[in-house]
Amino acid sequence: MGEPAGAEGPVAGDATGPTEAEWAAAVAAVRDLPPDRRVLLICHVNPDGDALGSMLGFALGLRRLGYRAVQATFPGRPELPEAFQAMPGLDLLVPAAAAWTDPDLVLSFDAASASRLGELADRLTGPATAVVIDHHASNTRFGTVHLVDPTAAATSVVVEQLLDRLGVPLDVEIAECLYVALATDTGSFRFEMTTPAVHEMAARLLATGLRPGEISRRIFDTRPFGAVRLYGDVLRRTRLEPEAVGGRGLVWTYATLDDLARHRQRPPVLEPLIDSIRCTAEADVSCLVKQVAPGEWAVSLRSKGGVDVSAVAVALGGGGHRLAAGFTGRGEVEEVVAAVRAELPGTGEPGEDQG
Ligand code: AMP
Ligand code: MN
Ligand code: MN
Repeated sequence: MGEPAGAEGPVAGDATGPTEAEWAAAVAAVRDLPPDRRVLLICHVNPDGDALGSMLGFALGLRRLGYRAVQATFPGRPELPEAFQAMPGLDLLVPAAAAWTDPDLVLSFDAASASRLGELADRLTGPATAVVIDHHASNTRFGTVHLVDPTAAATSVVVEQLLDRLGVPLDVEIAECLYVALATDTGSFRFEMTTPAVHEMAARLLATGLRPGEISRRIFDTRPFGAVRLYGDVLRRTRLEPEAVGGRGLVWTYATLDDLARHRQRPPVLEPLIDSIRCTAEADVSCLVKQVAPGEWAVSLRSKGGVDVSAVAVALGGGGHRLAAGFTGRGEVEEVVAAVRAELPGTGEPGEDQG
């Protein structure tokens, strides 16, 4: 959740999807594998709807093709936001610590770089073919076979095409996974990248009989009362700096581990919180600083279009899309926000502004 990849808008320049040779290599990597072999699917840390939905949707597709040994996993604590706890295919999910160390085929979903796979990154450097399925323009082309389409609104767009090329028909379970992914990354079909092709894909998914109202309520519109109160605390301390970013404005707030503990909540509950501050009319850029450990913060950045926040995130060791990016911050909250301010255009030396 909270990853409006589609917010980056249609990709400028000559960004294109996978070549026919790349599609053929990915199809062969699956088709040439006997069905008794072990397939490991990995998505990025703190999985959002696109990471999880793309991975589980493809995992179910492999099941339909007859693969019996399929594991899906992600790095870090094996903990999912409440919103995803009813997704189809969750029975294929295993904690990272239980993931095979020597699978016969590896697939990575929605991760722009190997570092996003944390302690599981080594699975992509072993002897097994490693297929990387992604839509980040910044993808570092790790792994051996690349299905990277920066024009795709979500990784699930690429997954749907791969399933089609493998001859796997959409069923309601696969469709629900891909729908969660597509709805997440397009911000419920609101962001710039919501093209006719996105709606056509949504139509194919809906035609399987899935329940969009029920899914949306579950993944976007449901949270524990403790989280509602926690959001109140965090939103009350939101700061608006209208003069920042060359007058475009910055809005930011933070949530600590103590905030979570006080309301008996777990970190994943904070993922949608950025959406509650990025709506601020007076600011183009929004920033949410979430404590993950003493002195360590997961930082979410969003822009409405005036600023390339992925450049800010990359400069601070992270990554993401033009209008939605993130990085790991160190030190006190104020230091983390100061680091963001220093990288934003229009706040430092003249000429830094991106126009
Ligand atoms: P988030 O704010 O966590 O929803 O992430 C927004 C975007 O930034 C996503 O495309 C992420 O893949 C990317 N991102 C977030 N955190 C990091 C990080 N620490 N390193 C690289 N990319 C990140
Ligand atoms: Mn993602
Ligand atoms: Mn994505």
